[in-house]
Amino acid sequence: MSQVRVRFAPSPTGLFHIGSARTALFNWLYARHTGGTFVLRIEDTDTARNTPEALASLLDGMRWLGLDWDEGPEKGGDVGPYLQSERNPIYEEYLQKLTDAGRTYEQDGAVFFKLLGERKVVFDKYKNADIEKVFGEPVVIEDAIRGRVEKTVEQDFVLRRSSGDFGFHFTNVVDDIAMAITHVIRGEDHLSNTARHVELYNAFGQKPPVFAHIPLILKSDGKGKMSKRETGAYIEDYRTKHVLPEALRNFLCLMGWNPKDNSEVMPIEEIIERFGFDGIQKDGARFDEKKLAHINTEYLRALNLETFAWMAAPILTEAGLIDESVDEDYLQAVLGVSQEKARDLEGLPELVGFFFTEDFAIDANARERVFKKGDPAARLRELLPVLQGLSEWTAPAIESAIDSLAEAQSVKKFDYFPVTRLAVSGQGGGPDLLGTLEVLGQERVVARMEKFATTL
Ligand code: GLU
Repeated sequence: MSQVRVRFAPSPTGLFHIGSARTALFNWLYARHTGGTFVLRIEDTDTARNTPEALASLLDGMRWLGLDWDEGPEKGGDVGPYLQSERNPIYEEYLQKLTDAGRTYEQDGAVFFKLLGERKVVFDKYKNADIEKVFGEPVVIEDAIRGRVEKTVEQDFVLRRSSGDFGFHFTNVVDDIAMAITHVIRGEDHLSNTARHVELYNAFGQKPPVFAHIPLILKSDGKGKMSKRETGAYIEDYRTKHVLPEALRNFLCLMGWNPKDNSEVMPIEEIIERFGFDGIQKDGARFDEKKLAHINTEYLRALNLETFAWMAAPILTEAGLIDESVDEDYLQAVLGVSQEKARDLEGLPELVGFFFTEDFAIDANARERVFKKGDPAARLRELLPVLQGLSEWTAPAIESAIDSLAEAQSVKKFDYFPVTRLAVSGQGGGPDLLGTLEVLGQERVVARMEKFATTL
């Protein structure tokens, strides 16, 4: 087992955000790639903003995405507890270390970290006030993605607020030390905190971990950060829309990492093998909904029929198309013929609805298109008795009957298709027509064609 220990350290203040999920994913990928350990630590010190619902959404979302953690809540581990709200004794102990080293002071009930360096009072134009600044050594961060970053921390910062709560920088660093974290992989928005964190490592006499700041997720138009208000900002949104978790995970892998050969749909084992910091870009990663839709479709079509049916059944039930009384063989057959045309599970009821009801609408646009060309009414009237008289009802038998008919009438075989499809499904497109006819069965097909013929 490798020594690599990474962590995902979310603050459960709201629903599980796509950006957080991507951070969790990159940590998980790195742990799995290196054979290291993936720690889940909950940064819930902000009692006013943390909620049990947020924590539940997070754990649930992680499980849904298949991001299993090796240590953390519900799992335990040697360096717990894994909720910061349960770690106060550890923080007390570490605060004492800094105090013993002469690196803290108290002011107005709060405890501050004391930087090293010369102090001067200067006028701060943003605050429009005199403030004390410290002129010390710059901190050098060798970021695994962004390269060398130099920054000077100029002001002492709080370790423990007057309320008694410990501050973010302090608990974050203490836990990374106490949990022996070797690589800190997190969003670029935290880069501005890292110099303070390194100051703390130095004060504790600890070697800082490797930092890897991953690029922000940008809105689909590339303009600005993907905020919490954007549609698709929450993992929950994808669950409600029945996006496949494996597809979303695959998509998120590509949000800032690329395998350098434009591969998109890849088994997770392959991504794990190829994942590394060298494939992570510095620039923001644009949230490309079309790419997600494409990847989702690919995953959906690749499912074996059994899994596809297992996922589809509740969605069709919810849409009121089927109930427990549905004929399982018929359902399987419908899904079997429809799967390759399914773009997503969300749109499945619309795609297959006509298989389950006689009460489907004839799409007006489709109708107009069908009746623009040739003489569909004549084709329908010719085909009807042929199908009625067919003794073997299989797609190949139907096809050869249409072939012979077309030859006899000196028209093209495909002249029969659009109007037939319209009559039996009301649609201009959909699952393979011959397969559809076979699955619907002779009786239904004939009845629907007859009914449609009366409207001509
Ligand atoms: N709790 C912080 C956050 O959710 C963790 C930052 C870090 O990964 O160090 O942004």
